[in-house]
Amino acid sequence: MGFFDIKSKCVICGKQSRFNMHKLSGEEDLCSDCFVLTGMGLLEKTEQYTVEDIKNKIIEKKRNDIEKEEKKEEERQIKEKIAEERREKVEKFTTTFCVKGKIHFDDNDKKWLIPDGWMGGIKNPFIYDYSDILDYEVIKEEHMEYYEDEEDKSPEKVCDRLIVYLSVNSAKVPTRKITFIDNGILGDIKVDSYSYRSKVDEMNKLVFQIKRVLKYNKQAHYQAVQEARAAQVEEQEEAEVVQVVNNVSAADEIMKFKGLLDAGIISLEEFNAKKEQLLDL
Ligand SMILES: [Zn+2]
Repeated sequence: MGFFDIKSKCVICGKQSRFNMHKLSGEEDLCSDCFVLTGMGLLEKTEQYTVEDIKNKIIEKKRNDIEKEEKKEEERQIKEKIAEERREKVEKFTTTFCVKGKIHFDDNDKKWLIPDGWMGGIKNPFIYDYSDILDYEVIKEEHMEYYEDEEDKSPEKVCDRLIVYLSVNSAKVPTRKITFIDNGILGDIKVDSYSYRSKVDEMNKLVFQIKRVLKYNKQAHYQAVQEARAAQVEEQEEAEVVQVVNNVSAADEIMKFKGLLDAGIISLEEFNAKKEQLLDL
């Protein structure tokens, strides 16, 4: 029996092996599989640990792994729930006005969205409230262009950019861009063309819709302020009623003490003291 036949036994699992054994503080052997179960780093010295330390490390790591797993599962469920809620919202969304592929509005539920799918389709976009639209701005840029190959040498007006910017109540994406013309993509767009006029027409319809939304928001805000004010007045009135009730009961109490005074049960000083206290003088 030579040296290489000598196998050592893992103190944790009892497995016998010749290779990759780690020595513990009492010369015990730890197999590589059990070493992995401790969660120790490869450079950490096992010699400093007792069998008890190793057992504790294995238990601790198992507990941590389970906790991590549970946390992951919890996060997964939360994500799933958010996705599900969004799917439901998207399903409920009914377009009442849209600029095809660019923006959709649902006037019944006061929601809007920007399509997120291929070719302007609606897949699973974020659904905004009307109140998330804070303001808008129209960008319209034009320049004069000379076309050499044309007989008429007078310049023509060309549109470079026709864009509506929305300011949105969102820290992440505070502006959304609705592009009608952004220069060069399809060549120059002459202002005197059907293509240009139809784009301006489309944009005007969108601006009209945005103005309606902003007007609705203003009214909703005004209504909320009014309701808050009404609630405040009601609260004050209730407080006053309580005050009146308190005064009435104070008068009743004083009459009771007056009876005791008349019957000679309490002295005049005691009665006056009680009266002052009840009237809050
Ligand atoms: Zn082992």
